Amino acid sequence: ELKSLAYSRVLEIHKRHLSPVETAYFQKPLLLHQGHMEWLFDSEGNRYLDFFSGIVTVGVGHCHPKVTAVAKKQIDRLWHTSSVFFHSPMHEYAEKLSALLPEPLKVVFLVNSGSEANDLAMVMARAYTNHTDIISFRGAYHGCSPYTLGLTNVGIYKMAVPGGIGCQSTMCPDVFRGPWGGSHCRDSPVQTVRKCSCAPDCCQANEWYIEQFKDTLNTSVATSIAGFFAEPIQGVNGVVQYPKEFLKETFALVRERGGVCIADEVQTGFGRLGSHFWGFQTHDVLPDIVTMAKGIGNGFPMAAVVTTPVKIAKSLTKCLHHFSTFGGSPLACTIGSAVLEVIEEENLQKNSQEVGTYLLLKFAKLRDEFDIVGDVRGKGLMVGIEMVQDKISRQPLPKTEVNQIHEDCKDMGLLVGRGGNFSQTFRIVPPMCVTKLEVDFAFEVFRSALTQHMERRAK
Ligand code: PMP
Repeated sequence: ELKSLAYSRVLEIHKRHLSPVETAYFQKPLLLHQGHMEWLFDSEGNRYLDFFSGIVTVGVGHCHPKVTAVAKKQIDRLWHTSSVFFHSPMHEYAEKLSALLPEPLKVVFLVNSGSEANDLAMVMARAYTNHTDIISFRGAYHGCSPYTLGLTNVGIYKMAVPGGIGCQSTMCPDVFRGPWGGSHCRDSPVQTVRKCSCAPDCCQANEWYIEQFKDTLNTSVATSIAGFFAEPIQGVNGVVQYPKEFLKETFALVRERGGVCIADEVQTGFGRLGSHFWGFQTHDVLPDIVTMAKGIGNGFPMAAVVTTPVKIAKSLTKCLHHFSTFGGSPLACTIGSAVLEVIEEENLQKNSQEVGTYLLLKFAKLRDEFDIVGDVRGKGLMVGIEMVQDKISRQPLPKTEVNQIHEDCKDMGLLVGRGGNFSQTFRIVPPMCVTKLEVDFAFEVFRSALTQHMERRAK
């Protein structure tokens, strides 16, 4: 029998032996006991609709029966052997995964976490180009290893320790919180129901943000650069989308300087965005390196870097002997294959598209109803609700208020995420198997939490 500790014991142990950094997420921490698909159950048997999928990680549902069944079989057969030995799960997985990427992205390196994948992509970019400088967006999250900390530019994750030498940040073309832009710059279905309310000159936002990017290239990096990292939609920063054409134009500028372009698909990949399997496809660009984690293993530690066979992978054999003890283990690869099969068999990408659009349009109504809802945006099942003090000032709603709404949602049975530099944005990223009925439930809960909050504010 698997035993469980009592709530009070868990709190005591946490206080004494686990990281003192704010990790509890809720004022009254949630002690989880069990999960099934889009549902989670706490130690007292309370049920929660998980609209955060354990931070965008559980794409096909908690303890998905097929994934669990094949994992159990593989555990009985062979859990682990390092990638220096050949084994069928790894080869099968590499073939399956690469089939989902366009030419020439066909060589797969298997590792264990998103940070590790981005570390490896940084090494690849530098080893291949023989250049040093790497650019990433302000607001980006690419990991918390010392190397990737240089790429991560969300204030709360920055540490006063040297990290990621040779990394330069560039302005994030955030059309809501940045200096220029408006929602109609985005390729968003919300536009069909809402007229743009931003300044008339916002159509030029892309142009102005491109000028900023050129300024970074001209002032902050060497004339030859190693690479540029971009999340197709920023996750940790609160589901931030860029103006149309921005990545296309910046990828060209990076390549002019001899750099490679890296798409970090840790949150956006595996069908979550609905219209496409990979986020970079929604920008109509082709990266040189793609990194992926989280949803790749539906919660099992697993990650990958995929790149081009001749251009990058082959050139690395001269200078990079890549090794990972656990990367590409039989168990991880079996789970990874089952995840890909489930996405296909259960039409989860299509579900992300249909249910995601339904969700976005439904939650967008809150923007008209509540002055503190500044923006509702996203694509597929990756939606952000940015909270403000009022629509005119667009000042972030104070963290204490956001936290209270978050807590109230949890107490009513709905788990949503938080994000953004000021923790001002709710992140809605359910497992891809979620239904419209569940979206309706989530909407009612979220709306009640906002109503309660407005009543509190009025007192
Ligand atoms: N890239 C992105 C876009 C992420 O969201 C994250 C994790 N939040 C990472 C990389 C790092 O992944 P991991 O926590 O597995 O190291």
